[in-house]
Amino acid sequence: MTPAPFETTRSGQDIGEREPLRYAARELSPSGSVIDLAGISIGGGELVVMAGPCAVESEQQLSAVARAVKASGARVLRGGAFKPRSSPYSFQGLKEEGLRLLAQISRETGLPVVTEALDTRYLDLVCRHVDMLQVGSRSMQNFPLLEAAGKCGKPVLLKRGMSATIEELLLAAEYVMKGGNRSVVLCERGIRTFETATRNTMDINAIPVLKRATHLPVIVDPSHGTGHWWMVPALSRAAVAAGADGLLVEVHPDPEAALSDGEQSLKPGDFDLMMRELRSVAHAVGKRLPEPEASQA
Ligand code: PEP
Ligand code: MN
Repeated sequence: MTPAPFETTRSGQDIGEREPLRYAARELSPSGSVIDLAGISIGGGELVVMAGPCAVESEQQLSAVARAVKASGARVLRGGAFKPRSSPYSFQGLKEEGLRLLAQISRETGLPVVTEALDTRYLDLVCRHVDMLQVGSRSMQNFPLLEAAGKCGKPVLLKRGMSATIEELLLAAEYVMKGGNRSVVLCERGIRTFETATRNTMDINAIPVLKRATHLPVIVDPSHGTGHWWMVPALSRAAVAAGADGLLVEVHPDPEAALSDGEQSLKPGDFDLMMRELRSVAHAVGKRLPEPEASQA
């Protein structure tokens, strides 16, 4: 029997059948699409690790993390300049100064940069400073933002909404792609469930479901997916084993003093160890991970 093109859901219909995928459907590019991010291929044979602080806090902090994660084999620097915080009284990010620092450290290290744009008003500004635009979990169904991302000319990292179905994530990708931007990378970052032991529940299921439904690369964020730094290496290994094309990992030189998400941020030495352990898992599933430049331990 020929397998159905997509996993059948409880409604009895397949993803892509209830609401057609005109750009993201796997059948449009059966071998999978490879997205170019400033010369780095996402979705090819390399496991692309994006790492850095949750939020850009200072030149010293960003520079220290960038150099450390690069030495451990990360290929892309992450860091938030505009932070979507639950409380309006929490640190909201360095905003334009954060973008300037990201661009500066990117030039100094050669690492391309991904950062979140919260709002259409800042989209052009963000795109002028960085290589990849992040649409965050809380913005996954901000349709004007998705449409603007479709015209921004930069690759887009689209994170799954914390209460969004996989189909809704794919339809959000359609908004970006319909605007003319085909460079979309999807990110599973954990969903809300009844479980309270972890910040979110890592939906490992999403990886094979997405891989079957779409040709777009899929990366995983085990930092937000768990909320605990000590869980990040285990869930990173699980994500890679399940077929993820890359990871998005929060790293901070002094997590106890972090202005956001310190409890889920790895110290550079722990990140280095994780990268070393990840190599054999990546090889087992046919992916390459660059050799670390130096030991950070
Ligand atoms: C982040 O990457 O720091 C972030 C805010 O992620 P999410 O949108 O998944 O919560
Ligand atoms: Mn964060």
